[in-house]
Amino acid sequence: MATSRSKQHKVLVSACLLGQPVRYDGRASGHPDLLQRWQSAGRIVPLCPEVAGGLPTPRPPAEIPGGQGSDVLNGQVKVVTVAGEDVSAQFLLGAQLALELVRRHGIRIAVLKSGSPSCGNLLTYDGTFSGTRVTGEGVTTALLRREGVQVFSELELEAAEQALKQLL
Ligand code: SF4
Repeated sequence: MATSRSKQHKVLVSACLLGQPVRYDGRASGHPDLLQRWQSAGRIVPLCPEVAGGLPTPRPPAEIPGGQGSDVLNGQVKVVTVAGEDVSAQFLLGAQLALELVRRHGIRIAVLKSGSPSCGNLLTYDGTFSGTRVTGEGVTTALLRREGVQVFSELELEAAEQALKQLL
């Protein structure tokens, strides 16, 4: 019985973690075994917020000055590319589309790519394009957390699986 109920809980996952070549550099980010199993079970809802928000692939790298996605949601800072282009609107649209998916599917758990200005959940880059990481979260992660979604990265798959079991 628990197994059949568990199948009703879906997980939002960064599309690049599912082998889709949607990263800014036109590559994927791998496809961990656990995600493959969840995918086979029909449990995964994939999304690349940046592509969904209208950005092309490949695309210039972008960062959040200060590294806090919540500041972007609050209109306090903009997401900018390495060339200085403001791509906040696309990032905000992608986050909004992620929120709509979460609400539509009743999703409480997400596994999103670490370090991304959209998907990062613990660390992001600081906006200097120098490879400097700071404690922070991407724009999509920040919005999903406001909705109460637990956001894990591909480095925390065991914790994500445990959290999913807690929902049963
Ligand atoms: Fe898209 Fe997020 Fe992966 Fe970046 S980290 S390519 S925004 S799914």
